[in-house]
Amino acid sequence: MKDSKIRCSFCNRNKDEVRILIAGAEGHICENCVANAQEIIEQELHPGPDARKSATPSHFVPKVAKPVEIKKFLDEYVIGQDDAKKIMAVAVYNHYKRLNQQVTEDDVEIEKSNLIMVGETGTGKTLLAKSIAKLLNVPFTIVDATVFTEAGYVGEDVESILTRLLQVCNYDVEAAERGIVYIDEIDKIARKSDNPSITRDVSGEGVQQGLLKLLEGTEVLVPPQGGRKHPEQKLIKVNTQNILFICGGAFDGIAQIISRRVQTHSIGFNVNKEREEDARKHILRYVNSQDLKQFGLIPELLGRLPVVTYLNSLDKDALTDILTKPRNALVKQYKKLFKVEGIEFDMADDAVEYIVDKALEYKLGARGLRSICEVVLADAMFSMPSTDEKSFVLTRAYAEEKLDKSTLVTLKVA
Ligand code: ADP
Repeated sequence: MKDSKIRCSFCNRNKDEVRILIAGAEGHICENCVANAQEIIEQELHPGPDARKSATPSHFVPKVAKPVEIKKFLDEYVIGQDDAKKIMAVAVYNHYKRLNQQVTEDDVEIEKSNLIMVGETGTGKTLLAKSIAKLLNVPFTIVDATVFTEAGYVGEDVESILTRLLQVCNYDVEAAERGIVYIDEIDKIARKSDNPSITRDVSGEGVQQGLLKLLEGTEVLVPPQGGRKHPEQKLIKVNTQNILFICGGAFDGIAQIISRRVQTHSIGFNVNKEREEDARKHILRYVNSQDLKQFGLIPELLGRLPVVTYLNSLDKDALTDILTKPRNALVKQYKKLFKVEGIEFDMADDAVEYIVDKALEYKLGARGLRSICEVVLADAMFSMPSTDEKSFVLTRAYAEEKLDKSTLVTLKVA
């Protein structure tokens, strides 16, 4: 993920992780920290019996929107994926209920519901996690499971996940202990065979074992600088009991595992291309822990990821919407970029269709939309600021000409 330079000077989140960053003389402040500061001011000016205790941001658990409102918010940024949005909205809502739960007479303790998302690459898993972080007021970080190895091997220890969480909240341990972590590419640490007797594999099962202790909720000793390069650093104790973990992965080949289980095998695969495609497209909605176990995640880990959801692969309509509709849609971004130069920019419908077709053809998914737009618009963005032109409509013919000349065609997947 690209790290932009402008950050909130209070919580250290970067521009992409918040909705608003207000600039000051020497730094910036995000909407979350403004809300926290407001709370502190209220407590200081009108102190109640517990004012001091709840006045610090780390004790502050904001009132969170109801699941329906959370989903509405996600709708502004993420196209489709309704099931995943609903499941995530409920998981996050319950996470907050859990944080706010009082110790009551009935001894019922709400357990956390870490969740796992299955969906092809580029379907919006990270975007969902990022968007939820915008809405929330807790520390949030994204980590990639592939960088971890079992303790003692080259690579990062799983504890460094918590290092990053600590870093985003300026080492406020209490705040970190209520945070959310998105672990991407969790499928890449699947063990290579469902047979547990196979010789231990360093990068897979060992890492899953390492993650277990983080997910189950224990006290973990975390190196504040991460890594093992600073053996002298004093370790920080972090309790992971209230940290919500969201995992995501493409799980290539899981469709076959699911179909075998739900026995669509006979009607779907290898019958004809169209039906195979259709069955494959919809089969993910049946995914459950059993399939993930067969894929190579260990049962203990799955036991700590009780909520399983899926993301659909993106078809032509979805890609068209992604290009034009979300709050941050690429077309809107380019309009804004050109507007700064005093140029009215628009993308003709046939150009939108052409770009979407190319993204599908190159099998680049939603990520491809951006690469294609960049290539197509590079010349215009280079030369137009030096001209007097006041408008620019991107047509299919123009897009075709620019793309044909570019090296992007070499990305085409056979
Ligand atoms: P992954 O599923 O691999 O985590 P990402 O969330 O990183 O995929 O998606 C890559 C990019 O594609 C995002 O930055 C976003 O611009 C776009 N994108 C993917 N899926 C969607 C979607 N459902 N709605 C809107 N944009 C999307």
